Amino acid sequence: MTVGAPGQARRIEGGPIAAEIRSAVAEDVATFTTTHGRAPGLAVVIIGRDAPSTVYLEQILRGCAKVGIEARFAEIDGEATEASVTTRIRELNEDDTVDGVIVQMPLPPTIRLRAVIDAIDPAKDIDGIHPLNAGLLRLGYDGFLPATAHAAVEILRRSGVEIEGRDAVVIGRSAVVGMPAAFLLVKEDATVTVCHSRTTDLPDKVRRADIVVVAAGKPGLITGAMLKPGAVVVDVGINLVDGKLVGDVDFESASQVASAITPVPGGVGPLTNALLLTHLIRAAERQAATATDTRAGVR
Ligand code: NAP
Repeated sequence: MTVGAPGQARRIEGGPIAAEIRSAVAEDVATFTTTHGRAPGLAVVIIGRDAPSTVYLEQILRGCAKVGIEARFAEIDGEATEASVTTRIRELNEDDTVDGVIVQMPLPPTIRLRAVIDAIDPAKDIDGIHPLNAGLLRLGYDGFLPATAHAAVEILRRSGVEIEGRDAVVIGRSAVVGMPAAFLLVKEDATVTVCHSRTTDLPDKVRRADIVVVAAGKPGLITGAMLKPGAVVVDVGINLVDGKLVGDVDFESASQVASAITPVPGGVGPLTNALLLTHLIRAAERQAATATDTRAGVR
C-alpha cells in the first residue's frame, strides 16, 4: 500500500498482528525449552510495588506465561539506593536462567537512569535501552530495539504500507520512542523529519508527510486539518483523559483525511508487548549459542 485515498481511513489494528507474532514466539519458546531443558527467562526489575507502570508490567508477565516464557518480578524496595538497584541488575546479568532484563520506568528521582542502563548486560537488554544497542541501531546493525519504536514501524510493515521513498515525520525525539523510530524509518529508506516541542510550524511539517508517527504524549496534538490527504498515521501516544485512554491524534478528524490510522487503544500497544517477547526469545537463543561456543572452546 502506498499513500492511499483520503476518506474514511482504514483502522490498522495491532491485536491480530500481535496474535500472529505471539503464536510464532510460542513455537520458538517450545523448541528452545525442549532443546535446553529450561524455558527462556525474563526478569522485570520493579522498584516499589505501587508505581503506576506496575499494571503494564503485570500485563507483560501474563503475556510471557501464555507463550511459555518464565517471567518474574525482581522486586526492590521503593526506598532502595542506586547502588542496591545496580547490584541487583548485575546479579540478574550473572543468572543463567535469566535471558532478558527490563526495568520499570520511570525510575524514582533518586536513581539516575544512566546508572541503571549502564548496569544492564547489553545481551539481556531486550528493550534496547543500553547505549551499545542504541549505537548499533544508529549504525544500522542488528541489536535490540526499543519495543515501542519497533512496534511503530513494524505495524506499518506488516500492514503493507510502503515506506521506501516516502516522506515521514516523527513527532517526538525521546531516546526510547521518537529517535529509534526515526532511525528505523531511515533504515527502511524513508526520508525522515524529526519534530519536537521547539519545532516551528509543526502543521507545515506534518502536512508534507506521507507517514506520520506521533509520540509526544499530548492528546489531540495532531488533527485531520494538519494531515496530507491519504497520509498514514501511527499514533504511539498513550494519555489518560477523563478516565479514558486516548492517543496524541484526534482520531475522528484524522480518519476523515488519512488513508490508514492506528487506534488508541488497540494499535501500537498490543504490538509492543508481542515484539518484546520476540526480543526475549532472540536473546535466549543467542546466549545459549554463546554458552555452547564457550563450552566447545570456540572463540
Ligand atoms: P517523552 O520522553 O515525554 O517525549 C515526548 C517527545 O514529544 C519529546 O521529544 C517532546 O519534545 C515531544 N513533544 C512534546 N510536546 C510536543 C509538542 N507540542 N509538539 C511537538 N513535539 C512535542 O515521551 P516518550 O517516552 O517518548 O513517549 C511518547 C508517547 O508514547 C507517550 O504518550 C507515551 O505514553 C507513549 N508510549 C507508548 C507506548 C506504547 O506501547 N504504545 C510505549 C511507551 C510510550 P522535547 O524533546 O522538545 O521535549
